[in-house]
Amino acid sequence: MSEILFRLLLFIALFGAVALLEARWPRRLRRQPRRRRWAINAGLLLVDVVAQRLTLGAAAFLMAGYAQSHGWGLFRLVEMPGWFTALLGFVLLDLAIYFQHVLFHAVPLLWRLHRIHHTDLELDLSSGFRFHPFEILLSLLYKVAVVAALGISPWVVLAFEATLSGAALFTHANLRLPAVVDGQLRRLLVTPDMHRVHHSVIAQETNSNFGFFLACWDRLFGTYRAQPEAGHRAMTIGLADYRQPSRLGLARLLWLPFESSPQASDQPRSDAGRGAS
Ligand SMILES: [Zn+2]
Repeated sequence: MSEILFRLLLFIALFGAVALLEARWPRRLRRQPRRRRWAINAGLLLVDVVAQRLTLGAAAFLMAGYAQSHGWGLFRLVEMPGWFTALLGFVLLDLAIYFQHVLFHAVPLLWRLHRIHHTDLELDLSSGFRFHPFEILLSLLYKVAVVAALGISPWVVLAFEATLSGAALFTHANLRLPAVVDGQLRRLLVTPDMHRVHHSVIAQETNSNFGFFLACWDRLFGTYRAQPEAGHRAMTIGLADYRQPSRLGLARLLWLPFESSPQASDQPRSDAGRGAS
């Protein structure tokens, strides 16, 4: 099976599974019309896939093969069992993505790209692919560098990328897991409740829970926040400066990195802010 077909079938299967779970056990009442949000997020996904395929394609996967055949990477310097090298490669890729996410929040130029992801006023599995194409391409270049530096095997890269795209659907899901399941699961993995805190309109909450897959990095680096202050049902999702759905269309989102500061018309009116929360 080709690499593209594998990714596509896996995506369809995971999307279907998470969509069913969301429909059965929703966490929050829907406040924004789903059709418009899904159209915008799917539009971004399409732009991202096309941009990626036209430029770097499966660059990380290919780089891993190249590095392997040329004996590149730190992993070649130390004698380790194959399974351990694979596991270490997977875990270190996840750590690298955690740091990348922290950087995308901390560096103003990178935040211009990443804020598109945070302008979603509601959160569900479709938010998991709401990214600006430039962020996708930058993140791919970064991954290529990590893969080459460490010498991670192509199959570990493919497994990691597949896991991460599945995790993105799951962690953004509007899904209510039983408290005990959530509590046990988040000892190891990022859960929807854990990641929802990161999409809160409150800045301290936005700047927490950066992890994508493994939950340990936030605990280790002091960015872990267990629950949102307002509770999962009442919390406001999104960014304070971008509250008008009519001004968050696909074209505007693609242009957003080039806008320096929020437009006056994005500021919530005194009642609109409360209405959205
Ligand atoms: Zn973020």
